[in-house]
Amino acid sequence: MKAKKIKKIRFDDIYDHAEKRLADGVVESNGVVVGDHSDHGKSYYEVRCGFCSGYFDAYKWSLRGGGKRCPHCDALMGSTFQMYQWEALVKKEEDKANA
Ligand SMILES: [Zn+2]
Repeated sequence: MKAKKIKKIRFDDIYDHAEKRLADGVVESNGVVVGDHSDHGKSYYEVRCGFCSGYFDAYKWSLRGGGKRCPHCDALMGSTFQMYQWEALVKKEEDKANA
């Protein structure tokens, strides 16, 4: 298959409401909370991405408000640290690891 540019995943892409399941081509993982911080009145979690294992900070208000995108691989994280990514992009990561 020819590589084509894939749009960043959005919450609208994740769920197939008609079928009541994850949409085709979407995979789910869980972000791992490695820290719970508060800085100048702003509370945030330090999270390890469930897909690329990169670390990033997620403000608690932003999670409640609609989620956070991993800055490393563009996976989306929701309010309970569930993460979503295009299957095609995850496979690419695995290929890299096996190379
Ligand atoms: Zn990531």
